[in-house]
Amino acid sequence: MLYIGSHTSYLKDKQLLGVLEESLSYGSNTFMFYTGSNQSTLRFPIDHTLRDKAHSLMKENNIDKEKCIVHAPFIINLANNSDERKYNFYIDFLKQELDRCIELDIRNLVLHPGSYTTLTREEGIKNIANGLNIALKDKENVNLLLEYMSGKGTEVGSSINDLKGIIDLLNDDVKNKVFVCLDTCHMNDSGVDIKDIDKFLDEFDEKIGINKIKCIHINDSYNPVASHKDRHANLGYGTIGFDNLINVIYNKRLDDIPKILETPWINRNEKDTWAPYKYEIEMIRKKEFVDYINL
Ligand SMILES: [Zn+2]
Repeated sequence: MLYIGSHTSYLKDKQLLGVLEESLSYGSNTFMFYTGSNQSTLRFPIDHTLRDKAHSLMKENNIDKEKCIVHAPFIINLANNSDERKYNFYIDFLKQELDRCIELDIRNLVLHPGSYTTLTREEGIKNIANGLNIALKDKENVNLLLEYMSGKGTEVGSSINDLKGIIDLLNDDVKNKVFVCLDTCHMNDSGVDIKDIDKFLDEFDEKIGINKIKCIHINDSYNPVASHKDRHANLGYGTIGFDNLINVIYNKRLDDIPKILETPWINRNEKDTWAPYKYEIEMIRKKEFVDYINL
């Protein structure tokens, strides 16, 4: 079955209920949100009335909470431990994010693995695994999804081998809580030819296992293969192209895995700014590209 949704806004006054109403307005049957700003660790308490209303609305609309996603803020960096105080702060903040997922009862948290900066890739991988071993030790019924990255700067997670390296170092009681979130823009920018997605999936299956893929971010890319850039483009307006993205979305091996759009808002001018998701989701369902931006 196709699970398709987008990034949505989680705002203080409506919280998960707002996320759900926004998702329904796009025709989504899954969604992703940050529990606050994606750039900061500022968080406000969860309103349980709004949460419960959201969950009953999800039931009414046949939205399976198991397919819905939370994204951790970008600033968590588990790859570099040269500042011990900062490293411990990030681990602690990750624990709090996992608790928020449990409290909201949306139990899949996507995390950027981090950047090793002044260290080596190998040290980065060790630090990430160590951080996850600590953060996930006592957490039950919550999944952490390591995102496949573009390889910008010193990012860890821009290859199957990086992700395998992290997962291999996890303790047994943590390993079963850790999964992967693919991203078509990041894969393209890291050097994967999306046209040949099955070749990538063969390697992924051999080294990590396809059952570890829990989410896929569907984005076109402004940049060519192996550019290590990470600039998301609207579907059909980038270098990957609409048909290649459709082939990922409808790939039999990726059926039932939630697909989340993180494409940029359309910004023609200050007064003409809008989310593209309703249009993109309709195009995906019809498997047909429409040049809606220029209509
Ligand atoms: Zn991400």
